[in-house]
Amino acid sequence: MKDGHGRVIDYLRISLTDRCNFRCIYCMPAEGVCMMGHDEILRIEEIEAIARVATRIGIRSVRLTGGEPLVRKGVVGLVRSLRNMPGIENISMTTNGVLLPQMAGELKEAGLSRVNISLDTLDPEQFEFITRVGKIESTLKGIDAALEAGFNPVKINAVTVRSLNQDFLAFAKLSIDRPLHVRFIEYMPVGESTGADGTGWGKQDVVPSEELLQIINERAVAQGLPELQPTDGSHKPLGWGPARYFEFPGAQGTVGFISPLSRHFCSECNRLRLTADGKLRPCLFSDREIDVRAALREGGEEAVYDCFLKALDLKPDEHHDKVGTERKMSQIGG
Ligand code: SAM
Ligand code: SF4
Repeated sequence: MKDGHGRVIDYLRISLTDRCNFRCIYCMPAEGVCMMGHDEILRIEEIEAIARVATRIGIRSVRLTGGEPLVRKGVVGLVRSLRNMPGIENISMTTNGVLLPQMAGELKEAGLSRVNISLDTLDPEQFEFITRVGKIESTLKGIDAALEAGFNPVKINAVTVRSLNQDFLAFAKLSIDRPLHVRFIEYMPVGESTGADGTGWGKQDVVPSEELLQIINERAVAQGLPELQPTDGSHKPLGWGPARYFEFPGAQGTVGFISPLSRHFCSECNRLRLTADGKLRPCLFSDREIDVRAALREGGEEAVYDCFLKALDLKPDEHHDKVGTERKMSQIGG
């Protein structure tokens, strides 16, 4: 189905929980978010019911996110039932990877199509600074586990922040020897507006993708490597969405750039979001939400269908460079 601006909407991001085993400084306060009550969180059967209705408006792809989706009890069963749901063509997940060594095999067997693993730095100390409580080995082992389980593609999501001074070339080089698809994502000023969230980061910390590409190429050449080349269609990882992809000649993986701020892709936006407490969110940057949990509990699946129609209608044309949202990223799902 199309939204009010003629865009085909076929992708639903489902946040399974607002809880997480990390406390990333740009996503969550150190003490964690104010935990939602048991009854506020959608039950697994309710998520399944909402997904079933979503297929009626044309949702074909589902991404499970959070908080950390792998800390949600019942996640493997949910993957399995989504896999068997007519209309759903693929199921992906965004995770910090920590629980993948235990869970990658059963997730693959249950029918998870692909995983994105978040990793913002390759420096162990900086990793602890960003995640507050995490160890880099846990995420690196998660990446190994995803590859061993046979997920394809395995994407690495790295949020770029100028004042973090990340080694962008080292990240890009992860794509050379293993089939890893590294994607640089511009930091998004979501939550209590930038700086005020405790990071001290502001708009000046957004590294526009064009500049990033130039930095990587200059450093690559300085190390005697070739420059990144635009990827030909045959090598683009599945589910490539709004990223622009490049590759080092002969590399097994690719390097993508997602530029929500410097190159709006709002005109191609194909997604809706469902929060863990059952609110349909037409746009990441807008606080307008539709209470699909109340609709389901009071009116059943027909009432949910009406919520989806309303969400399509309310989807804004673009984010208009809005800074700050009432909810933090961990509560929206990224
Ligand atoms: N816990 C999972 C993870 O970290 O992959 C899934 C949820 S997390 C909210 C989803 C994605 O949002 C992660 O890749 C994270 O880096 C990204 N993210 C969180 N806050 C962000 C921000 N302010 N700007 C850009 N990306 C952000
Ligand atoms: Fe947790 Fe992901 Fe947010 Fe980090 S980015 S705190 S891993 S939800």
